[in-house]
Amino acid sequence: MINLCILGSTGSIGCSTLDVIRQNSDRYCAFALTAYQNIQQLVTQCQEFNPHYAVIADKTKYLELKQALNQSGLQHIEVLAGIEGLQTVASLPEIDQVMAAIVGAAGLLPTLAAAKAGKRILLANKEALVISGALLMQTASQYQAEILPVDSEHNAIFQAMPTDFQKGLEQTGVEQILLTASGGPFRQWDLPALEKVTPAQAIAHPNWDMGAKISVDSATLMNKGLEVIEAHWLFNASAAQITVVVHPQSVIHSLVQYKDGSVLAQLGNPDMRTPIAHCMAYPERISSGVAPLDLFALARFDFEKPNMACFPCLQLCYDALQMGQGAPVVLNAANEIAVAAFLQNKIGFMQIPILIENCLNKIAHQTTLTLDGLLELDRETRLFAQQDLS
Ligand code: NAD
Ligand code: MG
Repeated sequence: MINLCILGSTGSIGCSTLDVIRQNSDRYCAFALTAYQNIQQLVTQCQEFNPHYAVIADKTKYLELKQALNQSGLQHIEVLAGIEGLQTVASLPEIDQVMAAIVGAAGLLPTLAAAKAGKRILLANKEALVISGALLMQTASQYQAEILPVDSEHNAIFQAMPTDFQKGLEQTGVEQILLTASGGPFRQWDLPALEKVTPAQAIAHPNWDMGAKISVDSATLMNKGLEVIEAHWLFNASAAQITVVVHPQSVIHSLVQYKDGSVLAQLGNPDMRTPIAHCMAYPERISSGVAPLDLFALARFDFEKPNMACFPCLQLCYDALQMGQGAPVVLNAANEIAVAAFLQNKIGFMQIPILIENCLNKIAHQTTLTLDGLLELDRETRLFAQQDLS
């Protein structure tokens, strides 16, 4: 049996992971499940998957979870709480694979714990890589942890890359990464219309069913920008080697262009169970439950350049990548605050990039990043951004 720890099992990626386990239950076991606050959903998952551990990140809910599990006859499940509980389950000796599917910077410490414990990390939590790319990649290599990309584009790139890409892109004949983007729900909108976007409109993605934060990020193109930074760390690619291509159908999940003119792509229906299953079984293949791609039913594929004027978040990410050091930490923390404020109707859609740019301009981020340094910069940015909003 292959034992999984699912960080963020109650989220969109967490539920898709459980579905892949459900279909391959002879080989995979949900050994540890974790949630932030949603006791009811976590208990329902425990009833079905009977894990050895259940963790609630919000410590104040520890007793409530314990009681709810007792009432369901699941008192044998070990209950842990808080960030320490997440770190503990991510590094248990019984665990083979850690699905990092907590949203935002909150996923960093448990993901780092999994890296230090030398686990196979199925990485969905792109923010962890954005804010601590150097540290996370270095820790993984030091402790022989394996980082496999769950993000659909990066998973596609990984599948289309030469197996020895770690030697360097130029040395292995790779000229460019073509990172596809759906363009989000407002791809063809103009600036006056974008000013009036509501949270409900922003979280209704045309192709993908995702958590609220990443849905807003997809609408602003911040998600694509975070993915540029993610690709930089995963594949050791410079900003100039990563080109964003808008492909509204979301069937080509990304491409790799080689110096002989070959372009390799990975295609599939837009369903995260494909990249999740790929990472769980790599280098083998297992069923994911995703319907086969019907090329005859697809009328056409379109490609466009991203509209940088209407979606400034994408350029801000390229800028932060060029600035380096702490800039991506500031960018990410400011975005998390801005998205939360937008979802609470406190700021408009086009104020999201303004707040981020303000933070990048006003907060000193040219520091060498230790873990403590980056956590401090994250805190400082959140405080500054909150004050800027009030
Ligand atoms: P989601 O909001 O649906 O789920 C987030 C999960 O994290 C939940 O289980 C929640 O309980 C937990 N969580 C939230 N805040 C927490 C905290 N402070 N401490 C501990 N746990 C916390 O999000 P999602 O759509 O599943 O996305 C998860 C991650 O995967 C994100 O980083 C996202 O960018 C990435 N991702 C998602 C998709 C997708 O299709 N949903 C695709 C690619 C990448
Ligand atoms: Mg993606």
